[in-house]
Amino acid sequence: MPLYEYYCEPCHGVFEELRPMREAGEAVPCPECYEDADRIMPTSFAAFTFRDGYPRKIPDDGTYWHLGQKVSTRVTGGRPNEHPEVNKPVPKKRLTRGERSAINDMREVAAKGDLVDMFNNPISPREVKQAYDRRDVIKKGVPARIHKDMKRKFR
Ligand SMILES: [Zn+2]
Repeated sequence: MPLYEYYCEPCHGVFEELRPMREAGEAVPCPECYEDADRIMPTSFAAFTFRDGYPRKIPDDGTYWHLGQKVSTRVTGGRPNEHPEVNKPVPKKRLTRGERSAINDMREVAAKGDLVDMFNNPISPREVKQAYDRRDVIKKGVPARIHKDMKRKFR
């Protein structure tokens, strides 16, 4: 299979994928942010330069892109999707009574298998809290993420 180059707009990153020739024109999910990345032709590669083995879009201002945000150093070690300048530790905050009851409700929905994350993966009842903290929880079949408390407010 031939190797094709794809460019991810949010990450400003170029990556290569081995694809069957007939699928070369289709978008490929970016390995960093999972957004669809379009194939770039070798000619558009002139708009990129390589530094430290990473493709950089010209003009190269010496920064790196990490998940769509500019950072001054490359991520080293740890999880590939985490960067100290982007993933700053968030101080723990106490849940309000409304949030606790919302999470309990979500656990009930999750127990029925009706709770999914933004990638449509099912969330189990014990994952609800984490998913809620990431604001990454959707009830199956609900298009917009409307918080239960919000709905109550607008009723
Ligand atoms: Zn990306």
